[in-house]
Amino acid sequence: MIDNPDAVIVCKFGGSSVANAAQIEKVRGIIQADPRRRIVVVSAPGKAKGDREKVTDHLINIATDGRHFHEMRKSISAEESREAVLRKFTSILHDLKLGGEPLLARLRADLSRDDLKGEPRIAFYASRGEHYNAQLIADHFRNHGLAARVGLPEEIGLEVRGEPLDAKIGPESHDRLAALADEEGIVVVPGFYGVSDEGEVAVMSRGGSDLTGGELAYAVDAEVYENWTDTNGIYEVDPRLIPESRVIPRLTFKEIRLLSSKGFNVFHFDAMLNCKKRKIPINIRNTNAPREPGTLILNERVPEEGVVGIAKLDNMAYIYLEKDSLGDEIGFTAGLLTIFQECGINTYHYPTDKDDIAVLVHQDDLKGSINELRRRIERRLNPDYMDVVYNQAILTPVGLGMKGNSHPIVDAITALGEARIPIKMMGQSPSQICFHIAVPQTAADAAIDVLYRRLIGMA
Ligand code: ASP
Repeated sequence: MIDNPDAVIVCKFGGSSVANAAQIEKVRGIIQADPRRRIVVVSAPGKAKGDREKVTDHLINIATDGRHFHEMRKSISAEESREAVLRKFTSILHDLKLGGEPLLARLRADLSRDDLKGEPRIAFYASRGEHYNAQLIADHFRNHGLAARVGLPEEIGLEVRGEPLDAKIGPESHDRLAALADEEGIVVVPGFYGVSDEGEVAVMSRGGSDLTGGELAYAVDAEVYENWTDTNGIYEVDPRLIPESRVIPRLTFKEIRLLSSKGFNVFHFDAMLNCKKRKIPINIRNTNAPREPGTLILNERVPEEGVVGIAKLDNMAYIYLEKDSLGDEIGFTAGLLTIFQECGINTYHYPTDKDDIAVLVHQDDLKGSINELRRRIERRLNPDYMDVVYNQAILTPVGLGMKGNSHPIVDAITALGEARIPIKMMGQSPSQICFHIAVPQTAADAAIDVLYRRLIGMA
């Protein structure tokens, strides 16, 4: 790496990295280890051992008078949530030996604010986890001799627009945020929320601290955007399924997009977009194992292998239609997809031919909608035959090295055939850097094992 003394690294620490005092201590160690780590974005405390829920969920539960957990079929009242949030902050402050009474008094006042209604109220409450965690983390850094200050969105000009619960950072904020690069000390910024031009608090979508980090990295043209979490990086396949699966050292934005849209739960998708524009690498790191180099996500890499990772999407279903010459009917597919759109069902893939078509969806998305969907399809498109096939899994091998190289596809089919695992559907993505294979859900774990061994494990 080329050393640049003015370089800034933006680090974002997720909920598990700041869930209690011991974790926050690890964060301090990481920040202290590299003077370039000058912009630190933090989440609200996540779930530590013994916690039933994350602070953000408790806060939303308070704002909705207990409905949030009720909708999740959990019985935790607003009052219990209020106690849990106060308990959490009290214990972190105590364990870090911070005299936190003024902070707790402000938190208590915020948690009894009743002048806001509806979404603005939920947004305000939801933001408090990040708001107070950033303050106490900056205090903790200072107590240990670091030159640190908190940079609240309202102070640094992090302006958002859009819905109170799905706000986006406006590009007009970037110039203001760029000034953070010139600060001498460390700035700790609460993730997930910003303020509108009217001064109202609005939050981004869930997991939105990743977005704050991505925007700040873009604004200051960071050397790297480090995303600190609780795994060693992005694995070739889910290590719960294949324990010998390794961390992928380097991946391109394009590969990670394909893997995460097909079941890899990495981090907020949109956080990557701005980094990609400025060619800022994203480094996924583990707060609990800071010596591990993690996974680097880059604009470009030299493809040394065919397949780098295999994603698995569980519990998929497909709607299968037969109608003579539907492939010749202009607008048939568009009409069919419109019905899915009307029913609010996201579609993943739709292989089609002269007389039939299948549309792949997430099985859960059909709950409550399948009857209406069938009715609309029958009424408007009059198919000769329609079937819904449930309990499928989609396996997606991904790798830049597959472009113009069909060996991995041949190997995958051969290996599944030898293992007697039936293939229900398959297709190559137009980019040629991934392909999808549907297998029965009951065979999914065996299939990923077979594919891992044939396509990656031997590499
Ligand atoms: N605390 C927020 C959430 O739980 C945002 C974040 O952690 O990124 O969704």
